[in-house]
Amino acid sequence: MPAPAYPTDLTLYIDGEWVAAGDRATHAVIDPASGATLADLPLATTDDLDRALAAAEIGFREWRATDVNVRSAKLRKVASLLRERAADIAPLLTMEQGKPVKEAIGEVAGAAALFDWFAEEARRSYGRALVRPEGQRAIVLQQPIGPVAAFSPWNFPHFLMARKLAPALAAGCSIICKPPEETPACTSALMRCVADAGIPGNVAQLVFGVPAEVSSHLIASPIIRKVSFTGSVPVGKHLMKLAADNVTRTTMELGGHAPVLVFDDCDLDRTLDIIVPQKFRNAGQVCVSPTRFYVQSGIYDRFVEEFTARTEKLSVGSGMDEATQMGPLANGRRPEAVGALIEDARANGARVATGGERFSPNGGNGGFFFQPTVLADVPLKAKIMSDEPFGPVALMRPFETFDEAVEQANRLPYGLAAFAFTESLRQANRLGDAIEAGMVGINTVGISSVDSPFGGVKQSGYGSEDGIEGLQAYMVTKAVHQA
Ligand code: NAD
Repeated sequence: MPAPAYPTDLTLYIDGEWVAAGDRATHAVIDPASGATLADLPLATTDDLDRALAAAEIGFREWRATDVNVRSAKLRKVASLLRERAADIAPLLTMEQGKPVKEAIGEVAGAAALFDWFAEEARRSYGRALVRPEGQRAIVLQQPIGPVAAFSPWNFPHFLMARKLAPALAAGCSIICKPPEETPACTSALMRCVADAGIPGNVAQLVFGVPAEVSSHLIASPIIRKVSFTGSVPVGKHLMKLAADNVTRTTMELGGHAPVLVFDDCDLDRTLDIIVPQKFRNAGQVCVSPTRFYVQSGIYDRFVEEFTARTEKLSVGSGMDEATQMGPLANGRRPEAVGALIEDARANGARVATGGERFSPNGGNGGFFFQPTVLADVPLKAKIMSDEPFGPVALMRPFETFDEAVEQANRLPYGLAAFAFTESLRQANRLGDAIEAGMVGINTVGISSVDSPFGGVKQSGYGSEDGIEGLQAYMVTKAVHQA
């Protein structure tokens, strides 16, 4: 089946109206596999944002008063529309973000699963009654927090917008989504499903703009009661400071630098089968990407060698090509940033086992491609051991003892995901306790599912998405005392 054409009539979605560019400033959307311009995206003006805020205030009042069964049914409808349209949405995501279409289809399926999960959770937002003498009561209520401003990033643009949109709507909140300007078609397609499912246009809205201008304008508004952000640590800290002015609640998912502890007693083949594809999924642009490999000395050389051999077999190219296992990086900033970190690691004595360079699989036709890379014997002083590479790079170092491995895993001020591979039950249990991270995968990389909380500790952020916690993030607790 031929891929759908990339839409050249991109819009904002404000108060139920799909708003075309008119005389607004625009942003060029780039195909990362070729560097060509796909379309021009309109950027919201402050008048647009004010209109969205006013609509969100009214939308919140109406939506919170809507029967929860009606809200739940509409969320389910979004899920079914996403599944119906997945084959059309996924290629758009690939064209603008670069990931292989197969991964893009999985991303849309993940978004649908979120809408189904929160359609159910919406109906399970229970309070409790505290019984007092003589008929007195205190009733603890969970209520929707209010209009939400949601900022999501470009690495999983469709799924990560859904991760904020679905629980906010389930809780009874209105929401203004500001997804990334790099990937507007797949997020617009998501918003189209929301609109077609009958969710009012003043309840769920979509704006694009200059990120710093949009965030400062929305967060400064007293209408906004909750900010949810997924992205980098520096931007997260900045938004937290903006939110502090109105004491607005935030959820922050800020990335990490995931350690992988590989013990001598692991099932080596199974470990490699699992971890190599996971490392290069979405070209390593994943906040929970396995990155710092600490490998016990008895198997270190073999692990590096076999990891490298598998890495060299990966087929890299356009995500639209079915044979592709890894696409380009998502934008022009990434190859620069990854290349600079690798250069610094080399200068500090790291050994390049494979990769390490930009390249063009199109025979010089541009694009933001980077070779899948393995760096061995990386010294701790190399910047890449502390700065998240957010690219297709695996870093390897040997370790001797359990305590040393845990110390290295916990060395950084981040704590989002961590992984460990061992066949020892006792060691596995101790690791689950000792590692400072929001999610720990032991003998698995499956650490994200709709029913399980997802979020970090330390500078990786706070608050959880998904799970029952994901709904709570959009609610406030009130105690009503009756005498
Ligand atoms: P960046 O720090 O400029 O931006 C990160 C994200 O925040 C982007 O989506 C961007 O649109 C948004 N943003 C930037 N300034 C903003 C502002 N003032 N207000 C609101 N939103 C703002 O970096 P980048 O080049 O886009 O991405 C690079 C780094 O971001 C990566 O190295 C990675 O650490 C991090 N990142 C993390 C995730 C994640 O899932 N946690 C996702 C994407 C990027």
